[in-house]
Order: sequence, then C-alpha cells, then structure tokens
Amino acid sequence: LTRVRHPKLRRSPHYATLTDRDISFFERLLPDGRAITNPDDCLPYNIDWIKTCQGQSQLVLKPKTVDEIQAILRYCHEHQLAVCPQGGNTGLAGGSVPVFDEIVLSLRSLNSIGAFDENSGVLIADAGCILQTLDVHVNQFGHTMPFDLGAKGSCLIGGNVATNAGGIRVVRYGSLRSAVLGLEIVLADGTLLDCLTSLRKDNTGVDLKQAFIGSEGILGLITRVALACPTAMSGVGLGLFSCSSFEKILSTMRLARKLCGETLSAIEFLDASTYNLSLKNLQQTNKPVEPNNFYILVETMSSTYEQAKATLDKLANTALEKEFITDGTLAQDLKQYKDLWAIRERVPEALVADGYVFKYDFSLPPARMYKLVEETQKRMKPFSNVRNVTGFGHLGDQNLHLNITVQNGYSDEIKHALEPWLYEWVAKERGSISAEHGLGLHKSKYLELNKGKQSLELMKQMKNIFDPKCILNPYKVLPYKID
Ligand code: FAD
Repeated sequence: LTRVRHPKLRRSPHYATLTDRDISFFERLLPDGRAITNPDDCLPYNIDWIKTCQGQSQLVLKPKTVDEIQAILRYCHEHQLAVCPQGGNTGLAGGSVPVFDEIVLSLRSLNSIGAFDENSGVLIADAGCILQTLDVHVNQFGHTMPFDLGAKGSCLIGGNVATNAGGIRVVRYGSLRSAVLGLEIVLADGTLLDCLTSLRKDNTGVDLKQAFIGSEGILGLITRVALACPTAMSGVGLGLFSCSSFEKILSTMRLARKLCGETLSAIEFLDASTYNLSLKNLQQTNKPVEPNNFYILVETMSSTYEQAKATLDKLANTALEKEFITDGTLAQDLKQYKDLWAIRERVPEALVADGYVFKYDFSLPPARMYKLVEETQKRMKPFSNVRNVTGFGHLGDQNLHLNITVQNGYSDEIKHALEPWLYEWVAKERGSISAEHGLGLHKSKYLELNKGKQSLELMKQMKNIFDPKCILNPYKVLPYKID
C-alpha cells in the first residue's frame, strides 16, 4: 500500500485538530460504540478499495438518524473540523477516504428502506442502503434498480448518487442522474435541504438536487434518495463473443444496436490481457470461447425470454457470417449467465491481485478508445516492473477503463510517465478524464483540462455557497493549491 497523495500536499492549518472534548461530544451523541476511536477499528475506513491511498483519521462516526448527521455537521462546522463522507468505500478515485485526519462520517448505519410505490415505480431509501439489497427489495414488486455495477454487494445508494455511478446498464436506462427524482441533503452547517420529491415531472425553478448528484461529497451529505425503478424484464439473454481486432468489436457493437434494437441492455468489451487476468483470478481453466485478441459481451432483455434470445441468436449468426466474430457462446441458464458476467464484473478484483494499479476511466470517441491503450503500452515498454497494460469497459457508453498493473508497488517514475500525458491526450480528443468514477483525490488537479476556467470558477463559487468553511471532503474534486 502506498500513499499516492501529492508529496507536497500539506494538511491545511485552516482545520482544527481533534480534541478530547470533541471526542466526548461525539461519544455522547453516538452511544453504543458508534463513535470509533480505536486505531485498528478505524483502519478499514482509512484505506480505499484499490489500496492506493491511506488517511490517518482517528475518528469514525456512524450515525443512525438524519438528526444525528445534522448534529455532527453543525458541530464540525462550528469547530472547523474537516469531514470525509463515506459510503461503501468502493470508490476508485481516492475520494472516499480521508487524506489526513478528517473525521470519517460513515453512512452505513443510516439504512432503512422506505416506501415503494407500485404505481409509479418509485423507491425511497436511506443513503446507507446497499445497492444489491435495494435491488432484491424492488424485485419483489417486479421492478429493478436502474443501474448495476460490480460493487453492488458493498456500495451504498448514497455513494452511488454522490458519484453518479455508471455501470453496465447505462445503455438501457441512461445515467443514474436521470433516475434520481429526489434527494434529501444535509448541508455543511447542518441545515436540512428537502428536495425529496418523487415526481417524474417538476419544472419549478432551479433543480437544486442536480448539483449534489456526482459532487462526491464536497457540497453536502446525501441522506435519502427517491429513485425511479424500471419494471424488471423476465427474459434475459447474454452472449460472449471473441474478435480478432478492435475494429471488429466496433462492427459487432453497431450490428448489436441494429439487430437487438430495443432489447439491448448492455455492451461491454475486454481485451485479451484483461480477459486472461480475469479468468486467472476466477481460477477458471476452461475457456468459454475460442481465444482471440478481444471479447465483447452483449446482453438483451425483454418481457419474454424467447424475444431476448431470438435477437441475440440473430446477432450471433449474422456476426459470424460477416466474420466480425470468430467464436461465441450464449448463456443457456442462470448459472452460465452469472459465470459469464463474473468474467467482466470481477475484473477490478483481478487487477488488484496482479499488482499496484494505476487506474484510469475515460470517455472517448469509440474509434479512438483502443488507440490510447496501444499508445500507453508503447510508453510503458521501458519499465520492466509493469506487468500489464489493459483496456476494457462499457463500450456502449464509449467508456474505456485503462489499467496499468505494476509489481513491487507504487512507482513515481511510472506515474510521471503516465500523467499528465494521458489526461492531455484525452483532453485533445475532447474526451472526459473521468467517465464515471469521479475525480476524488487522484484527478482533481486535472479538472481544468476537462472543463475550462469559467466552469471551474463557477464550481468554486458553488462550493463557497454550500460549504463556506470548506469542511466537506477537503483536497478532493476541485484543484487544491499546492505550493
Ligand atoms: P464511496 O466509495 O464510499 O464514496 C465515493 C464518493 O462519494 C466519495 O467522494 C465520498 O466522499 C462520497 N460519498 C459517499 N457517500 C456519500 C453521501 N451519502 N453523501 C455525500 N457524499 C458521499 N463505478 C461506476 O460508476 N461504474 C462501475 O461499473 C463500477 N464498477 C465497480 C466495480 C468494483 C468491483 C468496484 C470496487 C468499484 C466499482 N465502481 C464503479 C466504483 C464505485 O463502486 C462507485 O463509485 C460507487 O458508486 C461508490 O459508492 P460507495 O457507496 O462505495 O461510495
């Protein structure tokens, strides 16, 4: 584990240091061990999922009610104590853990599932509910969550909204932002902002909740969410196909759009290095399809299994005929469906098992996506400690996950060979330097490359309105001055 915060980043003297009086206050407010001070117990809240950063917080708070959250923030605001909001701590941009000694405010214990309206398909849930738990809940009513991602068993709905999480179903349901109908937020000074409507249509003034979706905890604490949950489709099909080149992957994607039409629900791709690492991590020796340089997963959904299967069959046959794919397999039952998805969904875990991970998450024009992986592979050639340079991602959303795994831990040399080169390359293509993971700690200093001066200035003004004492998630998202 290496701390990858900038070597010159210093703890700001602007923040107070935690005192015994502060700790007593929080222990009284949160009895039953919900104000954690034992260093061993604080440790998991200080380290991020991919083990790229570690903070030194000496206090983790686990409120169970919104009143408690308001009291915590009121106190921190008054005493100038910095706070790091944390959901399931599965974030991949270093935003969910403290940088120095910020108090961790964990949302895990605020986890009641509220009402589900069967007429509108709207679910209300506390921010600390686990995504998968909510999915199981709405499944009982014949609905599904409007997004899905590999971390579903650990990430929390508040964290999902705070990162505007993407995942594998954006092709079908659009971005999470469009499914969030209402939010309840606690502002930095403890004020409750009630934007928790369940309405699909509401054109009354400025839609304030939008500012908090994807703001990664720098503007306020999301405490409750109203989400539009689509009707679950009972028929699902999934195919895995191998292709010889990235051009053939793109041809297969275009064909899938045409032939699967409204049944299309996911299009993902993996290059051979990613695929092989994932199979190794899953300890899977039998290859589901004939090996080749690239793999594409296509999922279809429909109200009937026959229709979901029929469109996928047509895709497989036509793609073979046209020689876009060289081999393929279609899931025949639920087990095969889950096994094929595991190859894609457990890639992040396979990468962490391969070494220290330099992780990038770009939006790029499809024709340029893999060019960047190839150029990075060339650039990494001189470094003998680089194990793999791999590309995979949400192809249907033009979202490339580029990862460089390194043996023997973090390397400054490699980081400098990658950054800012990669970010500048993407900016030149008018891509995004963070498609779905957010900026967190790792990418904040490159925000201007993506958004320009005017947008950045307005973002700073917004931060000043919502959090004038700057206590929420400091050093993250907005570029922090390092001198
Ligand atoms: P955390 O990691 O705890 O926090 C993320 C950020 O949100 C932090 O800045 C934190 O301060 C802030 N935050 C958390 N909760 C709140 C709150 N209630 N109010 C205000 N701010 C808050 N992401 C994708 O977009 N698509 C994927 O496909 C995807 N796949 C993944 C697969 C794996 C295996 C893993 C480990 C991660 C994946 N991620 C993916 C990243 C991650 O799961 C998402 O970013 C997720 O939405 C984070 O939720 P969380 O509850 O873990 O939040």
